[in-house]
Amino acid sequence: MTGNVTNWARNITFQASGGLRTPESLDELCAVVGGAERVRALGAGHSFNRVADTTGTLVSLSRMPHLTEVDADARTVRVGAGATFAQLCAALRPYGLALANLPSTPHFTLAGAYATGTHGSGDAHGSLATAVRAVELVTADGGLSTVRRGDPDFDGTVTSLGALGVAHAVTLDLRPAFEVEQHVHEGLPWEVLTEHLDTLLASAYSVSAFTDWGGDAVRLWLKRRTGDPLPDLGWTGARPATRAHHPIEGLPAANSTEQLGVSGAWDERLPHFRSGFLPSSGAELQSEYLVPRADGAAAVTALRELRPWFAPVLQVAEIRSVAADTHWLSPNSGRDSVGFHFTWVRDADAVAPVVARMEEALAPFDARPHWGKVFATAPDVLRGSYARWDDFADLLRRRDPAGTFRNALVDHLFPTASDPATPDPAASDPAA
Ligand SMILES: Cc1cc2nc3c(=O)[nH]c(=O)nc-3n(C[C@H](O)[C@H](O)[C@H](O)COP(=O)(O)OP(=O)(O)OC[C@H]3O[C@@H](n4cnc5c(N)ncnc54)[C@H](O)[C@@H]3O)c2cc1C
Repeated sequence: MTGNVTNWARNITFQASGGLRTPESLDELCAVVGGAERVRALGAGHSFNRVADTTGTLVSLSRMPHLTEVDADARTVRVGAGATFAQLCAALRPYGLALANLPSTPHFTLAGAYATGTHGSGDAHGSLATAVRAVELVTADGGLSTVRRGDPDFDGTVTSLGALGVAHAVTLDLRPAFEVEQHVHEGLPWEVLTEHLDTLLASAYSVSAFTDWGGDAVRLWLKRRTGDPLPDLGWTGARPATRAHHPIEGLPAANSTEQLGVSGAWDERLPHFRSGFLPSSGAELQSEYLVPRADGAAAVTALRELRPWFAPVLQVAEIRSVAADTHWLSPNSGRDSVGFHFTWVRDADAVAPVVARMEEALAPFDARPHWGKVFATAPDVLRGSYARWDDFADLLRRRDPAGTFRNALVDHLFPTASDPATPDPAASDPAA
């Protein structure tokens, strides 16, 4: 395939001179990877920066044969890494098995989500990569390599920004399928959110607070496992919603998963958006910062002060919680976190100074950016935040000595001794 390939938000045009290849078998994938000087996998293209870019060949697994091997006794599935969450959820249905958690929308590929540390919400859930037991990679020479949980490099391999090879299959932990009810509460006062942030984020299996950071406009989305106790939020001053909502007020609620407490399958409630519908607004950029949970309330206060500054470019924001995990580059590595997500207007020039100012305000909390969203945090700051940063740099050198899977973002974050200083490719294209 030739022609300009863009990401989902159309703020990035990939620089791949070799175009986009769509192999239809593992052999063909190995041949494409092994024959390329520079190559990189493209998932669903939902990232907002150049994390998926390459100057060489992009390869998509979208035409690879569907692989879903469920081991019902062991409660695991070995699945094509290019499958979307929606495809995997549908394949698991007949087995009565489920993943522990899902992101806001099931449109991403598994490998694309794991590569960037993508997460859902819930005090007990680490990034989605915590479900991975094994990852099967096509390496730079076109060979195959499997890295399993417990192997020394495993925690550096799953969330690796696509820089260690093309994942063609993953094996995941499953659990018995469960039902979830979604309860939205409106008009939560800011002082209650700030004072009781931990209690509120812990009040259901998965909790999200949506807001424009103004007035008393915080809406709490509780995703409660059917049968778990229903928290009484009467004390908060928030009112149970009497109609269904879209996270962005004014957009059609029909795109959102069912609310108003109607019980339904886990995969039809844990994401905010239905699989067959446009998620979010489509014309947007996104950023997200994860801070230690203990600093969540102080970060809310700092961001409230910035509101007049970022409000003109904000569509909606979401606050959620993620548990600590052990993946070296997971933004939740080693610490329970609160995530502050921002859906911006699609105007990179207007968003860039806002992102820079926000990063300044969140710096005292050691904020870590989401790898798939717009950010500008300097590599030395990130290196100071991640305990295993240098171990990942070493893994990169060992697993990809020729730099086949490297791109401008990886060079920027993990320069080799001979790299000239590179401009920041995590920022969005100025022309967007
Ligand atoms: C509407 C919307 C909602 C979002 N909601 C959430 C959310 O709830 N939580 C959250 O944390 N994030 C969220 N994101 C961000 C999103 O989860 C990440 O950007 C994710 O990486 C997208 O997955 P993808 O399949 O589109 O991967 P891409 O963006 O295509 O690629 C991401 C990275 O994965 C690598 N990669 C892809 N496939 C492979 C492979 N087979 N092998 C090796 N590397 C590979 C790429 O090279 C790249 O480095 C959202 C984004 C959008 C657009």
